[in-house]
Amino acid sequence: MRALLAGWRRQALLALTALVAIVASASAQAVEVDNMRLWSAPDHVRLVFDMSGPVNANVFTLADPDRVVIDLDGTDLDFDIGQLDLDDSAIDQVRTGVRESGGLRVVLDVNRRVAPQSFTLAPNEQYSDRFVVDLNYPGESAVSDPIDPIEAMVRDQEMAAQRAQAEASATGQAPDPQEARVAAQPHPKRDIIVAVDAGHGGEDPGATGPSGTREKDVVLDIARKLKARFDQTPGFKAIMTRDGDYYVGLRQRTLIARQQKADFFVSIHADAVRSSQPYGSSVYALSQGGASSETARWLAATENESDLIGGVDGNLSLDDKDEVLRGVLLDLTMTATMNDSLATGGQVLDQLGRINKLHKSSVEQAGFVVLKSPDIPSLLVETGFISNPREEAQLRSSSHQAELAQAVYSGVVAHFRQHPPPTSLLAWQRDQGRGGASNEYRVQSGDTLSQVAASHDITMQALKQANGLDSDILRVGQVLTIP
Ligand SMILES: [Zn+2]
Repeated sequence: MRALLAGWRRQALLALTALVAIVASASAQAVEVDNMRLWSAPDHVRLVFDMSGPVNANVFTLADPDRVVIDLDGTDLDFDIGQLDLDDSAIDQVRTGVRESGGLRVVLDVNRRVAPQSFTLAPNEQYSDRFVVDLNYPGESAVSDPIDPIEAMVRDQEMAAQRAQAEASATGQAPDPQEARVAAQPHPKRDIIVAVDAGHGGEDPGATGPSGTREKDVVLDIARKLKARFDQTPGFKAIMTRDGDYYVGLRQRTLIARQQKADFFVSIHADAVRSSQPYGSSVYALSQGGASSETARWLAATENESDLIGGVDGNLSLDDKDEVLRGVLLDLTMTATMNDSLATGGQVLDQLGRINKLHKSSVEQAGFVVLKSPDIPSLLVETGFISNPREEAQLRSSSHQAELAQAVYSGVVAHFRQHPPPTSLLAWQRDQGRGGASNEYRVQSGDTLSQVAASHDITMQALKQANGLDSDILRVGQVLTIP
């Protein structure tokens, strides 16, 4: 009995010692917040906690006043929250405290209603464990300068008509008269919408040059210059899939382009390789292999991606067709889209070749996710090698950025001048304005000399010279020679 008791006491003591050891190791393993980063987008703000290890957390909102509470278990703060730049975000103030039960409480005072979403990210080459909180702004557009709803409606009608036509030729049936009637309405003279996609952003810096230039920064500069060029041109409007230093998922980028009814999608990047030697620009379109496997993927994922195939925006409404016809239609759409992409890619490459060495002299094809929209012709432009010191310096230079933007712009515009969408201003100008000779333009009501010059990508001076004009005044019906 005595021996038994002694044995029990010894075991209890051992257990107690073990417990003390566990408590000690738990407190020694408390994770730390080493750094915090904040990325502000038009429709959300992302707060990233860089942690020394994985963490359990709880995120909830409180009202009156609106705030978001983030409780991080067993966590200490080793970061000065005063360093966070809260500008352009919904967060007015960040407060922190130690919870009674231990751990860190972070309170975000917000100036609007937000819908928080949080997740953890495992360590990678660049970052340690991360805890990410996205505060989404309900009802807010992901684009700061979205397209006009009436233009969006015109575009929807046009797409429906084109689809009916494609379907009719695939099935040998006459198109639906309802769809055909769209063409009889007054000409909408709509803008051609170009989605300009600056690669990477926020969490994802992309490639880094030998002097530390980050791809995400230079491609945003180039993308903004490209948008400005389109917006200056009558008949064109550009939207940005990303217009700041924040991360946008690859699928989200093409989704934004679809929501904004883009006619064209162009993604801007800068290459990097281990060697510092390679240089020059390249242009990519989707590969056939990528397209056909993507077709299969699209068909398989119909249920999950109802927003893309015949769902929310209904641009590609295939859900009332049988399986085989769906496949045929998607193949037709993808093939047409890819042909347009390749043709435009050739034009862009031609323009880039005038200002920069070309890394490859023809349009390359690869399975980039951002190129996989079935009905929006898409290109990915690798503007240069950021890993090449000389080209890295060029990519930082504002004038070189402007030249790259101008080259991409000219290539895309050249394609649309040859193949304007039927409801576009360009198509109307082609059909109405130009009687006979293709180098003539008939002045329309509301035209100005500068607009006419810009829409033909020539200077006002050249236009005046070619027509012997000594003033800027035009009269309706006047026929101008386009030099
Ligand atoms: Zn890139």
